[in-house]
Amino acid sequence: MTDLAPPPSAGCRNAPVLKERGQREVFCGLTGIVWLHRKMQDAFFLVVGSRTCAHLLQSAAGVMIFAEPRFGTAILEETDLAGLADAHEELDREVARLLSRRPDIRQLFLVGSCPSEVIKLDLARAAERLTEIHAPRVRVLNFSGSGIETTFTQGEDACLASMVPVLPETEARELLVAGALPDVVEDQMLELLEALGIGPVRTLPARCADLDPSVGPNTVFALTQPFLGDTHAALIRRGARHIEAPMPFGDEGTTAWLAAIAREFGVSQERFEAVISAPRARARKAIAQASEPLKGKSVFFMPDSQLEVPLARFLTRECGMDAVEVGSPFIHDAIVGPDLDLLPAGPQISEGQDVERQLDRVRKARPDLTVCGLGLANPLEAEGLTTKWAIELVFTPVHFYEQAGDLASLFARPLNRKARLHLAKN
Ligand code: SF4
Repeated sequence: MTDLAPPPSAGCRNAPVLKERGQREVFCGLTGIVWLHRKMQDAFFLVVGSRTCAHLLQSAAGVMIFAEPRFGTAILEETDLAGLADAHEELDREVARLLSRRPDIRQLFLVGSCPSEVIKLDLARAAERLTEIHAPRVRVLNFSGSGIETTFTQGEDACLASMVPVLPETEARELLVAGALPDVVEDQMLELLEALGIGPVRTLPARCADLDPSVGPNTVFALTQPFLGDTHAALIRRGARHIEAPMPFGDEGTTAWLAAIAREFGVSQERFEAVISAPRARARKAIAQASEPLKGKSVFFMPDSQLEVPLARFLTRECGMDAVEVGSPFIHDAIVGPDLDLLPAGPQISEGQDVERQLDRVRKARPDLTVCGLGLANPLEAEGLTTKWAIELVFTPVHFYEQAGDLASLFARPLNRKARLHLAKN
């Protein structure tokens, strides 16, 4: 549809994948509440967990709260954990108290945690019971943010997947875009789609319950985040069809993502070019400026955010980096396949983690930049390696054309800092 750079003669789609199932170093899915509670303005996330869960949430998000927060923790005390108290009764009481105090809440998510899973507290049953009590004013759903089986971005996936079965049915042909984006970035995306004449466009999550999308056999959907495996499966179960495309990171990813949707909706080549040419030129210019320090540098992705494959594609094809290893907690071929097609063959693709073995590979390769979780960054920095915290990539607006330069800058910053420190020392 447009003058995209040709795919490499050999991409990574069929490359052998190193599968590891050892110890992992990742945050749990509760982290997703930090960005979801800002996005969904009439939702409340009630974590059913321990004081550890409450501390995690407060330290990750509490400092940013100026009004009444839209999340909280129902703390499981020792009597609950020992099975001496009826946790369901207590939960019902807590929810009733919360909803009477907060008439603005329209959607309540009961969020499972490690402790609630260990004592096998049935939050699905609790959500059903509480919906019966509080409907139609409040809809109660549940999902798990437990760290036992999740990585931190799976919290968003589990949340959105829990919403899909209760979305209204429609026969209309509509585009649904799934993945929580900051409002300003979502508005840019909606403006581009509107200028292309594509619509109606619905988003999941919507900003409030009244704007929730409908879904049905004529719904086509696109993802803005590569970590939405369960949401993808849930939408397909509802009869919707996925528009496969690279993720909208950088000039190439954004253009290819828009082009796939434009093809689906029969947008003419002329109209497509007219709409994208100015923002695309801005993105290219911004990337060219910001990526200068990245050229010829090597990058190693530890598995963390699940954004690794599309970001490796962006860094290698648009910023001139060489990928040594691209590790991701999970690799969903139906979602990141188009990015794998574009990622030039060469890097080791790995799925899952055996952290000690992977650290050995990092030490052997000594890459210029290692993208990893917070817990691994400090030890690696102490060994003289330069790191980038993967979690920043989820908290910072990085999608679509206007953020493409910022995305390159996020990776350039630690290298620039290292170069300045080196100069100061000499
Ligand atoms: Fe820790 Fe599990 Fe609570 Fe997450 S859900 S804060 S990993 S106890």
